[in-house]
Amino acid sequence: MAVLPIRTYPDPVLREKAKRVKTIDPSIRKLAADMLETMHAAPGVGLAAPQVGIPIRLIVLGNIEDVEDFALINPEVVKRKGERVVTEGCLSVPGYSGTIKRAETVTVKGRDIDGREVRIKADELLAEALEHEIDHVNGILYIDYIENESDLKKIEPRKFEEAEAEDE
Ligand code: ZN
Repeated sequence: MAVLPIRTYPDPVLREKAKRVKTIDPSIRKLAADMLETMHAAPGVGLAAPQVGIPIRLIVLGNIEDVEDFALINPEVVKRKGERVVTEGCLSVPGYSGTIKRAETVTVKGRDIDGREVRIKADELLAEALEHEIDHVNGILYIDYIENESDLKKIEPRKFEEAEAEDE
């Protein structure tokens, strides 16, 4: 397994409508495993294949409480219910977080890594992550949903450490 480099905005691969996966062969399984390792190293709660430069419809999710790591092939949102405001970030848009609207619950279908059809009904962080990653395979980034500039904030993780150092 390998940690893969993550493509960042405005890399055009992030804007492609990714291709459907026709055959779940060993190369797809290897890519899914590498993507999970990359997601854990980042760390993040999900990753889509276009983020590692491969425009196919494959996403992985994990690092979410009560949810085992999993990959989803040709994922689709079949139902959205409700609306809520969330603060979201993206490994391909480093250094920012934004406030956007997501569904309260989503129903998603796709195939697992063994090719079995799966249907997932999710809420909270898993619902948000599923919508976010499925957006990626459609060439959509969460920043596309930002309505006001003030809803996008720069996050500077080093600032805290610097402030601490100054205090000493
Ligand atoms: Zn993302």
